[in-house]
Amino acid sequence: MNLFSRKPIICTICKKESAHKNKPKSEWKIEGSLCGDCYVSQMKKFYEQSLRQKCVICGIEKDVPDLWEPRYQWDMTGLLCKPCFDKKDLTYKSQRSNCQTCGKKLGMIRYTPKKKWVLDGQLCRECWDSHKAKLG
Ligand SMILES: [Zn+2]
Ligand SMILES: [Zn+2]
Ligand SMILES: [Zn+2]
Repeated sequence: MNLFSRKPIICTICKKESAHKNKPKSEWKIEGSLCGDCYVSQMKKFYEQSLRQKCVICGIEKDVPDLWEPRYQWDMTGLLCKPCFDKKDLTYKSQRSNCQTCGKKLGMIRYTPKKKWVLDGQLCRECWDSHKAKLG
């Protein structure tokens, strides 16, 4: 077999003869060879697809820049649309029942940290007091 054979190939997509053999990328799941035009159009198609993704919660398809990365605490992979992100954020916040500093389970009484403490979530009494003492 001569790898440098100049024999024209038949493009898998448009069925035209082509002098240049373009090997499709494995992620395209295309068998055979492509002519230059089809190769370029596949490249474009896959590039565009890679710029769009579905929200992992509701499945809506959006441009990647319009999707949000889940917060690391959510332990999720994939991207979320803004409404799902907000919903998830709220649910997550209301579900958090542990002190953000010491991890102690919080009861009915919880303390919301002051803005300047730059803490998310809620604190137990002891941690709130110690932050108050340190940071005011
Ligand atoms: Zn072609
Ligand atoms: Zn969504
Ligand atoms: Zn605590």
